[in-house]
Amino acid sequence: EIEDDEDDVGLSIAETRTANVNEEEYRWTEEVYYRLRHTFKLPGFRPNQLEAINSTLIGKDVFVLMPTGGGKSLCYQLPAIVKSGKTKGTSIVISPLISLMQDQVEHLLDLNIKASMISSKGTTQQRKQTFSLFSQGKLDLIYISPEMIASSKQCKRVIKKLYQEGNLARIIVDEAHCVSSWGHDFRPDYKELYFFKSEYPKIPMMVLTATANEHVRQDIVTNLRLRNPVFLKQSFNRTNLFYEVLRKDKDSIDEMIDAIKYHFTEQSGIIYCHSKNSCEKVALQLQNNQIRCGYYHAGMDPDERMMIQRDWQRNKLQVICATVAFGMGIDKSDVRFIYHFTVPRTLEGYYQETGRAGRDGKPSYCIGYYSMKDVRAIQKMIQKDSSLDKISREKHFDKLQEVMKYCENIKECRRKLVLSYFNEEFDRNLCHENCDNCKKCQDVVSHMEDITMIAKDVITLVQSIENETVTSIYCQNLFKGSRTAKIIQAGHDNLEKHGTGKSINKAKIEKIFFHLISERILEEYSITNNGGYANCYVRTGVNSRKVINGLLKVKMELTELRPIPASTTEDNNDGTNSKVSKNSKSKPVFLEVLAEQGRHMKNTPV
Ligand code: ADP
Ligand code: MG
Ligand code: ZN
Repeated sequence: EIEDDEDDVGLSIAETRTANVNEEEYRWTEEVYYRLRHTFKLPGFRPNQLEAINSTLIGKDVFVLMPTGGGKSLCYQLPAIVKSGKTKGTSIVISPLISLMQDQVEHLLDLNIKASMISSKGTTQQRKQTFSLFSQGKLDLIYISPEMIASSKQCKRVIKKLYQEGNLARIIVDEAHCVSSWGHDFRPDYKELYFFKSEYPKIPMMVLTATANEHVRQDIVTNLRLRNPVFLKQSFNRTNLFYEVLRKDKDSIDEMIDAIKYHFTEQSGIIYCHSKNSCEKVALQLQNNQIRCGYYHAGMDPDERMMIQRDWQRNKLQVICATVAFGMGIDKSDVRFIYHFTVPRTLEGYYQETGRAGRDGKPSYCIGYYSMKDVRAIQKMIQKDSSLDKISREKHFDKLQEVMKYCENIKECRRKLVLSYFNEEFDRNLCHENCDNCKKCQDVVSHMEDITMIAKDVITLVQSIENETVTSIYCQNLFKGSRTAKIIQAGHDNLEKHGTGKSINKAKIEKIFFHLISERILEEYSITNNGGYANCYVRTGVNSRKVINGLLKVKMELTELRPIPASTTEDNNDGTNSKVSKNSKSKPVFLEVLAEQGRHMKNTPV
């Protein structure tokens, strides 16, 4: 029963369906499209969404593997309100995070969908009310936390009643990788979810995850006892996106502004920054260069944020400088460039944020700026974040380390690197030179260097002053042999190991310290001062003794470009010599690609 009374429905459905002429017709097809347009207010389906919806409405078990941000929720939220499928009643959704459930329920209520949630949180009164609606089959969707399934008898009783009255439509397990101890996010309570299939084998189940690892997949199927599921897998590769990582220095902001002004003229884009402050600063600089630009971060009030987003959505603003707070609910298909002016915190985040470019399938560019300074700034933010416990803080540091590895890699295909992170194997040839590393195809020399001797010196140096609470940078400066006033005043220029590393360049010293920290030979720790700010200091770590005693060798991978003789590269065809000095930075590769494609954005304004 379709309650809406608008009369343009037939036409809209026909319009949205022209794209899917080959699809099978089901008796619920009309209703499915009607819900898509009028309830969810979306223009069309993304890959595999319709397949998932049809399969569950037939009554089959479904396995949906889709990248983060790919649109998994719609795969189960939409069928939950379709009345003409083979199943009827309430859809139960198991989801691991209460905050996530809350967001989704609120979103659904906004769309006038009857949804609610049951978790250990909330008042007894609230829970009573929800259980009452739930047991009467009055809800379309109910979100239940896995620990309720594992521990609440009441919960199981109500599910049984629902089933007996024919009101249990399907079971959905979101973030299904949580069921596998091979996954990165194992939750013991998820194991108990086999209960559904063992009690009610015929009730269809849909499981969803973004984790593509084969082992995890097997675990999900066996642990949840899926019956011959329809497997819907979507490659995480975004073929139309070009990826590049650039070293960040003081000229980077101008380089970016130039590219936006002259190569992405009038094209829509996003610049991601790591803090509210940097968002505003970068936005101001763009504005000073006559670029229509706004900023967006969590420190602004919701109305203001909505307005900025709307102006950008309507191309009143060309560019938006944003923190990661900007993302939810963006649906702009013609985003041509994404800059990460600061490195992202995680590769998942990077994938998701860059994924906002080129939804229309046209060539788009994802450019990241990378510097150790920014990495350290982010480390500090993680260190200061009081919402994190020790274990999750470690996890954040590890993830940042992965981002660094990605950025420092100047050899491997960017796609291959990102996709391998999602456990997708990728053949480099399929990149078609659509990333900086494939395009340059540089002669990269890489070798493992034994830095044990250097490490010993560093350990001894750090050990000799660690009682004085010193930072990693300060120690790096000492190692390099710096004699700032502060160093001399403290008498640290007299330390035995002061200047032992003076022949090593600064960037490499930085890398060495970072490597030693990641190998737990050094360790960073924080002290919270009176103002509540945590400062980050360095000391020797658990593995330092082994290095000193000769039980642990320290090896570090070094990559560098094989020098190409200037005469063969710098000579232009017409015999003139470009005035490129030896030290000048090479031009970003994406500019070359833009030029080659003859798609200089100037010619095709939005
Ligand atoms: P996932 O759970 O796969 O990470 P979500 O279900 O949270 O992804 O969806 C991510 C975003 O994509 C949401 O903002 C959602 O509104 C949007 N989205 C989902 N399906 C579509 C669609 N067919 N068309 C446009 N936007 C969609
Ligand atoms: Mg999701
Ligand atoms: Zn590549």
